[in-house]
Amino acid sequence: MTFLDLHAPANDLTRQLIDIPSVSGGEAAIADAVEAALAQCGHLEITRDGDAIVARTTLGRAERVIIAGHLDTVPIKNNVPSSRTRDGLGIIGRGATDMKGGVAVMLSLAAELVEPTRDITWVFYDHEEVEESKNGLGRLSRRHPELIAGDFAVLCEPTQAQIEGGCNGTIRMDIVLSGKAAHSARSWKGVNAIHAAAPVLAALAAYEPRTVEVDGLQYREGLNAVGVTGGIAGNVIPDECIITVNYRFAPSLTTDDAVQHVRDVLAASGVGEFSTVVTDRADACRPGLDALIALGFVDAVASTGAPEPRAKLGWTDVARFGALGIPAVNYGPGDPELAHADLEWCAINEIHQCRAGLAAWLTS
Ligand SMILES: [Zn+2]
Repeated sequence: MTFLDLHAPANDLTRQLIDIPSVSGGEAAIADAVEAALAQCGHLEITRDGDAIVARTTLGRAERVIIAGHLDTVPIKNNVPSSRTRDGLGIIGRGATDMKGGVAVMLSLAAELVEPTRDITWVFYDHEEVEESKNGLGRLSRRHPELIAGDFAVLCEPTQAQIEGGCNGTIRMDIVLSGKAAHSARSWKGVNAIHAAAPVLAALAAYEPRTVEVDGLQYREGLNAVGVTGGIAGNVIPDECIITVNYRFAPSLTTDDAVQHVRDVLAASGVGEFSTVVTDRADACRPGLDALIALGFVDAVASTGAPEPRAKLGWTDVARFGALGIPAVNYGPGDPELAHADLEWCAINEIHQCRAGLAAWLTS
C-alpha cells in the first residue's frame, strides 16, 4: 500500500494522490491509503463505508462544517503518473483538477488542524464520476445521515480557488401532445399531434429566462426544448408528439416549483391541451452565504485575494447537501474547464491559496 505523507506540502501530496490510480469503481487502493494516513491522526474519529471515509473532530464546538471531496477520477489517458508543467507552476495528471488537488488540501488540513474553531467532518467518497445511484456521498447520507449532519458544507471541486455558491437545479420533462391517427389521404378524419407542437415551440422560443438573486448571488436560468419525437409513417397523421424540455432553475425553487413553472409558462401562452411526464429531476442548492457561519468563510477566502463569490450554474454534489437542508458552496483548486480533459493540470498556487483560505476560516 502507498503511504501518504499528509505533512508534505499540499502540491506534493496532490502528486502522491494522482500516482494512485482511482478510476470510478477502482477506489479501494486510494481509500486504503487515505484511511491509513488519517488513522495516524489521534484527533479524528474515522468511519469507513465501502470506499468512502469520514473523519470527524469531536471537540463539542457550537458549529460543525462538512468539507467533502471525491476520490475517483474519469479513466486515465496516459496521464498517470503525474508530472510538472514545463514552467514548474502546475501539476499534470488525471485528477489534478478534478479533484485530487482539492483532496490534497483536505487531507493536509485534516492532519494539521487538531483544534479547529468549528468541528469538522472531512468526507472522502467514491463513485462521483459515474451514475447517480452509485454516488458515495448519496450512499453515506442514506446509511449514515448522522455523519453527514452539519451547519454548512464546502465541496472542494475545482473553482480556481473562488467561492461558487450553491447550484442550479435541473428537470427534464416530456410535454405530451395528443391527436387522432388517420390515413393522410383522408387527413380531415384525424388530428395532427405534430402540428400541436408549433405553439409549444413558439412559447419556448419566446420565453425569456430569468436571472434570480439568491443570498446575494445571481443564478441565470434556462428553459429549452432539447428533443422532439413524433410520427408513425409517411402516410399517417400522427396521434402523438413529445417535446422534451430541460429547465435549469435557480435555488429559489424546489423541483416541484420548477415543474409547475414550466406548466404555467405553457398554459399562459395559450397552448392547447397537453400532459407532462417528469423524466429527471435534481434539486438546486442555496449558497447560504447570508448565514453567519458563511460570512467568516467569505472573509477568509477574500483575504487570499480571491474575487467575490459567484453562483455555480452547473449541477454538483452540493445539491445533496441542499436536499438535507445544509447550505453548501464549491471551493477548490483547478480550472473546472480542464476537468476530464486529457491535458488536465492544476496550478500549484491555487492549491496553496485554497489551503490558506480554509485554514484561515477554520482557525479564526
Ligand atoms: Zn469532480
